[in-house]
Amino acid sequence: MTGMLIAGERTDGAAGEGIDVIDPATEERIDSVPRGTAADVDAAVEAADRAFVDWQKTDAEDRANLLRKAIALIERDRKDLTMSLVHEQGKPVTEAGGEIHHLIHGLNYYADLATKVRGSYQPLPSALSKAYGMVIRRPMGVVAAIVPNNFPLTLLGTKLAPALMAGNTIVVKPAATTPLTTLKIAELLLEAEFPPGVVNVITGKGSEVGDALVTHDKVRRVAFTGSTAVGRHIMGLAAPKLKRLTMELGGSDPVIVAPDANIKAAARGIAIGRFWNCGQMCLGGKRIYVFDEVYDELLEQLTRTVGKYEPGLGWEKAEKPAIRVGPLHTADGRDEIHAQLQDALDGGGELVLGGDKRDGTGYFVNPTIVTNPALDSRVAREETFGPVLPIWKVSDLDEAIRLSNDSEYGLGASVWTNDIRTIHRVANEVEAGMKWVNQFHYGYDELPFGGVKQSGYGKEHGQEGLDYYLEDISVVVGGLE
Ligand code: NDP
Repeated sequence: MTGMLIAGERTDGAAGEGIDVIDPATEERIDSVPRGTAADVDAAVEAADRAFVDWQKTDAEDRANLLRKAIALIERDRKDLTMSLVHEQGKPVTEAGGEIHHLIHGLNYYADLATKVRGSYQPLPSALSKAYGMVIRRPMGVVAAIVPNNFPLTLLGTKLAPALMAGNTIVVKPAATTPLTTLKIAELLLEAEFPPGVVNVITGKGSEVGDALVTHDKVRRVAFTGSTAVGRHIMGLAAPKLKRLTMELGGSDPVIVAPDANIKAAARGIAIGRFWNCGQMCLGGKRIYVFDEVYDELLEQLTRTVGKYEPGLGWEKAEKPAIRVGPLHTADGRDEIHAQLQDALDGGGELVLGGDKRDGTGYFVNPTIVTNPALDSRVAREETFGPVLPIWKVSDLDEAIRLSNDSEYGLGASVWTNDIRTIHRVANEVEAGMKWVNQFHYGYDELPFGGVKQSGYGKEHGQEGLDYYLEDISVVVGGLE
């Protein structure tokens, strides 16, 4: 069993029980981690709270240098971390390598920002007495970071780096099914000499340790990424204690393909956006709306591109021109995607590619394209967290925008066009927290990212991501006469 990390020490937890970590491609047990309890959560939060006393006083430059040291160690262990991610998550080596690259980029971004946090000076009226005001920016205390299973490392980085660089301490709760690489990263932070207790990792099931973590009196800030259903539950738990929250939740991003689009580029972008990580993306086109005029051409290009995707073991390269796609992360996820697809077909959708169930080991699903399912079908209304691409024909931009907005979600959206009026309308009228023009959906570290509607609220990435880990405190300085 690989222990969790509390106050700089590995521990098997108060109960001493374990949870198996399974390779989704082979269904074999890779390792196990402790099944955390409320007592472990309490120990981790107390350790983080004790560490906060000194950590908040450290120089921002020293904090940045520690993070840079940890980044160098991640670079050193890049291969091992990549393979660890491949085995516990299921994604192919290229994608796992891409995730580590994105993690490192994000950590560097916040190491650079650590020394650039500024407050302000404000002259004040002297009617009461002569005084001026300052707005200083203080860390908040202990942060709880709850991370999902699809991008365990980048979504760890988007919380850990701004939290620590702002001077907070942290307790991380990785998904029960993807704790191993997170524990390795936390170990590297310790090797880089982050003080014990600044970073803690609690393993176990969200349903068992989640409530204790979110409601703990000493947790001041909860950074959650995961499904909308669990997000709602966490918001309810946090409300009585008025925790500051960021809610990065589910999505069902629309993609509009206009008649003037570069169809080849659109097909390529849509395929990457939908089938990367075997479709287990928060961002990523999950509903495609294509103008009548270019529908046949796009479908033909997409079918050709997606036909190259070949499900298989993440550590085995596909032979060109095939492109490797890994398994879904869990058996439940696989069964859910088949159920959503069946519903789409029952509702009049036409199967263009894939759709057949696979026998054998591993939670593999064949990349699938379905056209024009009913507008109230599950693939239109819900998040589809797997390699199924539904496509609808539309007659004009009004219809495309109306259908794009006909969803409870509002995470991302994109349009393929070179027409400035179309771009302007999509930028202003489609309800989503982030939009792309002629590009697949990618979360840049430099830009604030977060959803609207049932995709949540609050921002990660960018300067704004750091702001969510700081408290603005006004100080009035008098006695000047
Ligand atoms: P879940 O919501 O099932 O789980 C997310 C995290 O919450 C896991 O660590 C989970 O732990 C934990 N959790 C579960 N129950 C509780 C609880 N009662 N209290 C506290 N924590 C709990 O999501 P998935 O891991 O399945 O990830 C997929 C979802 O995440 C999709 O909806 C996807 O769109 C969304 N997502 C959103 C992103 C965004 O930026 N908006 C980015 C990436 C993903 P455990 O695993 O132990 O159950």
